[in-house]
Amino acid sequence: MRHPILRLGDEGLRRPTRPVTVFDASLHALVDDMIETMHAAPGIGLAAPQIGLDLQLCVIDLSVGASHADLIVLANPHFVERRGMQLESEGCLSVPTFYATVARASEVVVRGQDRDGVWRTYDGSGLLARAFQHELDHLRGRIFVDRLQGLQRRLLLGRITRLRAKGRW
Ligand SMILES: [Zn+2]
Repeated sequence: MRHPILRLGDEGLRRPTRPVTVFDASLHALVDDMIETMHAAPGIGLAAPQIGLDLQLCVIDLSVGASHADLIVLANPHFVERRGMQLESEGCLSVPTFYATVARASEVVVRGQDRDGVWRTYDGSGLLARAFQHELDHLRGRIFVDRLQGLQRRLLLGRITRLRAKGRW
């Protein structure tokens, strides 16, 4: 089942998240819903707060459904290492049609539990490293626009404020 995706401005995106503690059939159903919602959007990552759930849970799939090997389910994730720096354009399903250049680590090592609760370690560079950092930000109530500064941030937020005033956000 697809879920509606919350947009920037919705408080659901900002709430603290709690750890996933039970890896049962209802969690599996939720994970499958998140994967379906991400693929349908389409997007390469989705975090539980984006569908209004205060859980430390996200899914990533750089192939957007084309390759099952690319699908990553992360519960209770944390960074083991972050190295280097990359400056690339970034977007978010909760900030549709808006993109901005965001500084991120170029390589990361992440540990998290899969849908069965098994701890796994992932090495990511480039776009995958960016996806890990973007989704883990969501689990801490952060959105990529929070990482922008100065004029870039003011222009983007100003455009969204005007869209919201017209009822188009
Ligand atoms: Zn996002």
